[in-house]
Amino acid sequence: MPSLTLGDFELSIFSDGTYPLDGGAFFGVVPKIMWSRKVTADQRNYVQAGLNSLLIRTGKQNVLVETGMGSKLSERMIKFYGQPAQLLANLAAAGIAPENIDIVINTHLHFDHCGWNTIRDKDGKIVPTFPRAKYYAPEGEWQYARHPSERDAISYIPDNYDPLVQSGQITLLKGGEEIVPGISVKTFPGHTAHMQAVIVESAGRTACYISDLIPTTAHIDLTWGMSFDLYPLQTIESKKQYYAKAIQEKWLTVFTHDPATPWAYVEKDEIGKMAARKV
Ligand SMILES: [Zn+2]
Repeated sequence: MPSLTLGDFELSIFSDGTYPLDGGAFFGVVPKIMWSRKVTADQRNYVQAGLNSLLIRTGKQNVLVETGMGSKLSERMIKFYGQPAQLLANLAAAGIAPENIDIVINTHLHFDHCGWNTIRDKDGKIVPTFPRAKYYAPEGEWQYARHPSERDAISYIPDNYDPLVQSGQITLLKGGEEIVPGISVKTFPGHTAHMQAVIVESAGRTACYISDLIPTTAHIDLTWGMSFDLYPLQTIESKKQYYAKAIQEKWLTVFTHDPATPWAYVEKDEIGKMAARKV
């Protein structure tokens, strides 16, 4: 489990496992002859995608950003994605029980980002996985998720969030809020209209969980977006905005779907090409 210190905070990556994604869909309009230099595809053209959650130990709270794919997938979805579901075991191996999580933040509500928000108990009832936690998610995402388009309806599983909205355990965010001192959210439209990145600042250092705006280190070029993005031109604008801050101020970027490099510094080389400098 990769860990590092950011100012007074300790940051760790916990994975929910990996899952296969069609390489063409993952890289949108980028030709395979280009993306296959960065990632390998199997005979069916699938590449492996990671499911990286970020745990921030502030000294006062344990804050978990994103909860992977979880354990409630339908049979049909398991056929496509398998059932990785390793997040709780990986947290437990580091001595972290669900009761130890104080805050859960979802950047958006696609099923591979909030799957462990809830679990089915013995009687089949949907209950919060992290019983003591306060949950946070973008309000616009939740509104959209109630009436998604035909194109991305499959990505929204109401059991991941509706029970928490009904019980009041989740707080819906407009974007821009500070959740605890040093941890705030900012809306970056493109992948969805309301996706929020999580910005972590401590003692003059900054990290950002940029989520599906830049899902892996192979996606750092401005025009390398996923075909899942609902607003591809906004993805490019949001990436420009992000890089203007993140490169200048040397932010650590956390990549949600990169199975090999969960975090890196994005830099611009002499010819203006983006590169990921490993930690
Ligand atoms: Zn997504």
